[in-house]
Amino acid sequence: MSDIDTVLVLNAGSSSLKYQLVQPDSGFVVAHGVVERIGESQGRVDLIRGDEVNEFVGEIVDHEAGLSKVFELFSGVGHDLESEGITAVGHRVVHGGPQFYRPTVVDDALIDAIKDLETLAPLHNPVNLLGIEATRRLLPDVPSVVVFDTAYFHGLPEHVATYAIDRELAREHHIRRYGFHGTSHQYVSTRTAEFLDADLEDLNQIVLHLGNGASASAIAGGRPVETSMGLTPLEGLVMGTRSGDIDPGVVMYLRRAAGLDVDEIDVVLNRQSGLKGLCGENDFRSLIEMVSGGDPDATLAYNVYIHRLRKYVGAYMVTLGRTDTIVFTAGVGENNAKVRADALAGLENFGIVVDAVRNATRSREPRIISTDDSAVTVLVVPTNEELAIARQSVEALS
Ligand code: AMP
Repeated sequence: MSDIDTVLVLNAGSSSLKYQLVQPDSGFVVAHGVVERIGESQGRVDLIRGDEVNEFVGEIVDHEAGLSKVFELFSGVGHDLESEGITAVGHRVVHGGPQFYRPTVVDDALIDAIKDLETLAPLHNPVNLLGIEATRRLLPDVPSVVVFDTAYFHGLPEHVATYAIDRELAREHHIRRYGFHGTSHQYVSTRTAEFLDADLEDLNQIVLHLGNGASASAIAGGRPVETSMGLTPLEGLVMGTRSGDIDPGVVMYLRRAAGLDVDEIDVVLNRQSGLKGLCGENDFRSLIEMVSGGDPDATLAYNVYIHRLRKYVGAYMVTLGRTDTIVFTAGVGENNAKVRADALAGLENFGIVVDAVRNATRSREPRIISTDDSAVTVLVVPTNEELAIARQSVEALS
């Protein structure tokens, strides 16, 4: 048995399951991988451990079958999970509703409560639960902890969390702005303070989490005071397949004019909108290639994306009053220098000056990309939601 504790972190999607076995103290990733195309005849599982890659290709009927394949791959390379010192399984669950804002140890009551939250997050919570239920069956002796994506934003000021709609209706149905990607916003803002050797309490930060899903937050002295996602992860920035902000009148109009029912509108706004809706492509790398090739739809999509991002940066600078840092993170934010440059271009009068050479330099480490005399420090800080979930899981159990 290993004398170094590890946590297995799971992020279950509808047809995929990402996992990471991580040492919470050091952040060392013992192994990681993904189960893909669950429910299809040609699924795939991989296990990456250092330079070693082990793979299974074949039918994976459900999440539990996928997870047991992962365990088989572990033992196939002589490392059953027990010998890895596994002390907990940490699960990402998207929506904690009004009642869950701390990492919570899994028991039957929690599972029932997450089921009750399904109407708030029909696309996410049920699939997150599949991962939890599979783990409980396959690893009955290892405690599971749920870390909610909404938790960090639980303390948003009331006037920020409140929609201006009928208050009775809102109360009855728990309609408010919850915010998502909380684990990432919290991790990245904390990591930024560490990297700058500053106190989190002294910094006013804007964090831009730009991945396939995208969200912005304003964090004043370590407390989130604004975020772009709302009741669901649909509000806010333009995303890979999600519209972000639209006039809610569009929903009624689609019902009346296009005859779509509510589930069809859900699919349109969550899966067929955003960059994909505008140009047919939601992967940012491919989108950039299309823009370079002069594709007019991709160019418009890119411009809509950047315009929305700039609107949020402006709004959050005013919300904060004084902005010390603007931090880019997640797949696009960490890797795409053009997005970072365009999002903050021409803002010298606001004290924001991105350095072209620093911005173009690639690294996996936190780094400053603004000039030395920029009043606002602009950074790229890689997110690490898995490590944050692992650490919070250990804390919840201690
Ligand atoms: P995430 O949801 O954080 O995994 O981010 C996914 C998005 O990041 C996709 O749109 C990818 O195209 C984009 N992305 C990942 N790697 C790169 C890269 N090296 N350059 C540009 N975009 C990237």
